[in-house]
Amino acid sequence: MSLSFIARSIAESPTLRLNEEAELLRQRGESVIHLGIGEPKNKAPINAILTSAATLSRADVKYCPTDGTPSLKKAIITYTEENYGKVPDPDNVIVCSGAKQAIFNLLYTILNPQDEVIILAPYWVSYPEMVRMALGVPVFVTPEDGGLHPRMKDIVEAVGSATKAIIVNSPNNPSGLVYSDDFISEIVEFCEKRGIYLIMDDIYHKLVFDDRKPTPCYEFTDKEIEDSRLIVINGISKLYGMTGFRIGWAIAPEKLVKVMTNVQSQVTSCPSVVLQAAAEGALTGIQGIVESLRLTIENNRNIIMSELSAFNGVKVTKPGGAFYCLPDFSSYNKDSVDLSEFLLRRALVVTVPGKEFGMEGHLRLSYAGSVKEITEGITRIKWALDPNSPNEIYIGNRKVVRDWL
Ligand code: PMP
Repeated sequence: MSLSFIARSIAESPTLRLNEEAELLRQRGESVIHLGIGEPKNKAPINAILTSAATLSRADVKYCPTDGTPSLKKAIITYTEENYGKVPDPDNVIVCSGAKQAIFNLLYTILNPQDEVIILAPYWVSYPEMVRMALGVPVFVTPEDGGLHPRMKDIVEAVGSATKAIIVNSPNNPSGLVYSDDFISEIVEFCEKRGIYLIMDDIYHKLVFDDRKPTPCYEFTDKEIEDSRLIVINGISKLYGMTGFRIGWAIAPEKLVKVMTNVQSQVTSCPSVVLQAAAEGALTGIQGIVESLRLTIENNRNIIMSELSAFNGVKVTKPGGAFYCLPDFSSYNKDSVDLSEFLLRRALVVTVPGKEFGMEGHLRLSYAGSVKEITEGITRIKWALDPNSPNEIYIGNRKVVRDWL
């Protein structure tokens, strides 16, 4: 079969594949614990349901402007004003079918073939593949000090004449790290000065812990959106637990939004009008839902940290946000794909190999699930790896004896 070499070179999304694998095991009646999942468990906000149901019940669901319904754009402008202290013009906003599509449209809009995009490891799995699909070249920058927080020094060394953009994601998927204000301030200043696009993937921006407040990146530039190199990506998936609704957006200079809109108009047209109504409902409804989700997840973070700190040989940096952590399991197995497969097979626990995020030897664990899943998941991992843990365990109602250590 004749397929394009670009399409053939694009990897499957490992996180989506793992979701499907876990679901198949569940359907077979296996007692699977999913610590790989990237979505909170809460129900969608009632206001989101009511607004989308009202749109549906009018039975008159047609195309809307490609860049989004005027009323959702208005809600996004208010959201940006309240959370970022900046008031974008409607022409600075484009609504897409998820933050994922917003990032892809953006990369497709700004990249010429061979343009480079700096990606900070550990990184979200989709960035490199999206850059490649847009014919760009991903350039990975891994902190030279062996940590998980990016360092300006390493980034500056990687920047060259072909650098078109840098992607920053804080709170970070997969590490859960919230980057320091000093770092954000430095990178904003650097990109503004050098004319490099700075893509702030803010999809987790309100999910921060320990009384920290999200710092809006616009604070560190004196330029207006129109003249700035800053582009902010956001959406409802993570903050409102509305991953299946598929609505995200970008805030960018008008000239850029115009071209992104042309691109979108040829690929998907407008995002679903029903789901845009749901997003509007989420943004304009009671915001306590985000805070209660944040509190639940912070509590889960505390639980997973205490479970992991009692795990011999595992090193973990305390996450300050999102719902992931990225412990170093290399003292058990340096090959994270092998380790993740082993844990699924033996302990029925889904984890995501760090290799997928540019951090071999680590596993990404999500604590978006229930406390029971977190504690039982870590107990099972311990049982499978640590010879000092008891060698018998119940998986579901099956008693299993460890015979490999
Ligand atoms: N950016 C990051 C860092 C993510 O983790 C995700 C979802 N896993 C997205 C973007 C995409 O979000 P959406 O569901 O809005 O497409």
